[in-house]
Amino acid sequence: MNCPASLSIVIPCYDEEEVLPSTYARLKELCLGWVNAGKITEYEIVFVNDGSTDKTFDIMRGFFESDQNVVVVDFRKNFGFQSAISAGLYAAKNEMIVSIDSDLQNDPEKIAEMVAKYYEGYEMVLGVRKDRAADKFFKRITAQLFYKLVSFFGIPSVYNHADFRLLSRDIVAELKNFPERARYLRSLIFSVESKYACVYYECRARALGRSKFNFSKMVSLAIDGITSFSAMPIRLISLLGIVMFLFSIIGLVYTLCVRFFLQAVVPGWASVLLIILFLGGIQNLSLGVIGEYLSKLYLEAKQRPPYIIRREYRHK
Ligand code: UDP
Ligand code: MG
Repeated sequence: MNCPASLSIVIPCYDEEEVLPSTYARLKELCLGWVNAGKITEYEIVFVNDGSTDKTFDIMRGFFESDQNVVVVDFRKNFGFQSAISAGLYAAKNEMIVSIDSDLQNDPEKIAEMVAKYYEGYEMVLGVRKDRAADKFFKRITAQLFYKLVSFFGIPSVYNHADFRLLSRDIVAELKNFPERARYLRSLIFSVESKYACVYYECRARALGRSKFNFSKMVSLAIDGITSFSAMPIRLISLLGIVMFLFSIIGLVYTLCVRFFLQAVVPGWASVLLIILFLGGIQNLSLGVIGEYLSKLYLEAKQRPPYIIRREYRHK
């Protein structure tokens, strides 16, 4: 591994006009410091405009006009966080490629630690949050629930690691060979490499603007993550089906016994109704889970591109 090496920083942005100027200034200051200290040879900052509706793109263009180290990738519409990171990773040209949120909730100073780990021989370095104190109550609970669910389903992932990470150019090149539309990078990276290091950071509250992850985006990322990496939910349904079948045989024997030996007709519409409701609920849930996988197949089968770039702005 070359030491020092060159660094790319990838920033996905969706309606981030409030935070972009300070984020750019901070990252530039840090990068220049690392270049001067001989920690890295050169740097570039890759902004991906994920179909923003505010002035985000104009601000990026402004940075590009005045700075040789800025690259801008402009999407035609909003394709989502994971697509934006993927496009940024592929546009990046340097040896070490770091992805980081535009609101700098991930501590950018930790990039220096990631770089140090890279020089130790790790081509994959994951930023891991120390805690979730900066999150609002609802976000904290849902995020924790999600990570628990992911580990229950046996999906490779690291607790509290989101999309702040360093990858070598070689690993990014390997990622390109994964053609799936649903790109859940937090787990996809483990399909490429098993050796990694972690860097722990305090997550700050968002300084300006608001979270671009509404409830439905969060749920769809979570479902994508689980259904892309585990068939266990479907297997659980089969298991549930077997258990229900066994119960129904016991019920059948019991009913026949009551009918022929006790000669008693049991009233009790409540118990019948409860069973119908219960079974109906389980059947609908099961159909829903199967439907999720089916829709995933449907979307993947169409082989549509995960994003479309209007134009890439690059100096060299
Ligand atoms: N983002 C994006 N496309 C989207 C949603 C979010 O590129 O459709 C970017 C957003 O601009 C930010 C990062 O993803 O740089 C993380 O989003 P945010 O900070 O809103 O998420 P949170 O920290 O609340 O989970
Ligand atoms: Mg954020």
